Amino acid sequence: MSTPNLLMIPGPIGLSSDVLRALSQPQRGHLDPVFMQSFASALKRLREVCGAPTAQPFVISGSGTLAMEMSVANLVQPGDRALVVNTGYFSDRIATMLELHGAQVTHVKAEPGDVASLEEVERALASASFKVMTVTHVDTSTAVLAPVKALAALARKHGALCVVDGVCSVGGEALEFDAWGVDVAFTASQKALGAPPGLAVVLAGPRALAAWKARTRPVAAMYLDFAQWLPIHQAYESGVPSYFATPAVNLLMALDVSLGELVTETMPARVARHQALAKAARAAWSALGLSLLTKTPEVAAHTLSAVKYPAGVDASLVKHVGAQGVNVAGGLHPALKATYFRVGHMGAATGGTLLETVGAVERGLVACGHRFDLGAGVAAVQRALAAVG
Ligand SMILES: *Cc1c(COP(=O)(O)O)cnc(C)c1O
Repeated sequence: MSTPNLLMIPGPIGLSSDVLRALSQPQRGHLDPVFMQSFASALKRLREVCGAPTAQPFVISGSGTLAMEMSVANLVQPGDRALVVNTGYFSDRIATMLELHGAQVTHVKAEPGDVASLEEVERALASASFKVMTVTHVDTSTAVLAPVKALAALARKHGALCVVDGVCSVGGEALEFDAWGVDVAFTASQKALGAPPGLAVVLAGPRALAAWKARTRPVAAMYLDFAQWLPIHQAYESGVPSYFATPAVNLLMALDVSLGELVTETMPARVARHQALAKAARAAWSALGLSLLTKTPEVAAHTLSAVKYPAGVDASLVKHVGAQGVNVAGGLHPALKATYFRVGHMGAATGGTLLETVGAVERGLVACGHRFDLGAGVAAVQRALAAVG
């Protein structure tokens, strides 16, 4: 079996050895007490990771897109209005989903690489009665970080539920669900949470659950309905066997282990580590003469970088970097995807893996004929890491 490249794409990400070990255990049934304990523990840890003691976590089999759809399907019914703070590809996706579920969608868009100003969002919120406002915390297509705390406060002020797409942020960026007044946050197992792909995670706060209870029409998707899953999750948390649809036993056990690692590191330390790695990565891109897709440092995510190809270099760089043993990703934003590449630095990423990555990007740039001071990126990472100690 060949050893895969170092995985530095924005999800799935590399797994810790304890997470790998959790996956390779003998198969257990979904009512096995060890599994039930692990499921209950994962739910508790999700509340802790998100600062969400009052929220109900749901974990079901599927990817982040399913978590998005579970959030939308339970909150929205035909005729509701939704405001999408649109920062790119994944904001467009939730808008399409909201429309499929009957919502009337208004967008507040920014240029790719930027977020609309709070004034623009507030003007939009004041223009109609919105049931929900959605925010993509980190838009993985452009590496734009949205100011969720301030946006959630605006949504609250105007009576809209704040729904956060945290697929590329939860576990890597600061997110204080209760303190910031977020109503729904959803994510997936394979990005900053550090588990394999396959689990959709939704946290629903009290206002979101009340809005779901107040629906006048049933949720139009049985598998996604909170009504099916709420009793199951409550039963597992109190140690009572229960069944609606077979849970992904092994993935849930692996998720519990990775969440245990997050809780042990503590979220403040983990957020600081992601910030330090992002800063070191940015120092490297700048030392190599490469610029970011994100317009300002304030809107640049800490879980990944979106880096423009320099003049004369095209998407073949991604292949050349792969040949050097590290996987990075191409662009994703439909209008710009041929002009930039993306590097994930989340989860178990370290100074060591970042050095390896920047080194591979440098050798890839050489293969593409780009002229620069070889080693400048690696040196910049070294200086940035040494400065944090
Ligand atoms: C990856 C991602 C998604 C989609 O998740 P999948 O697991 O690929 O379905 C949605 N939103 C954001 C911000 C993402 O990064």
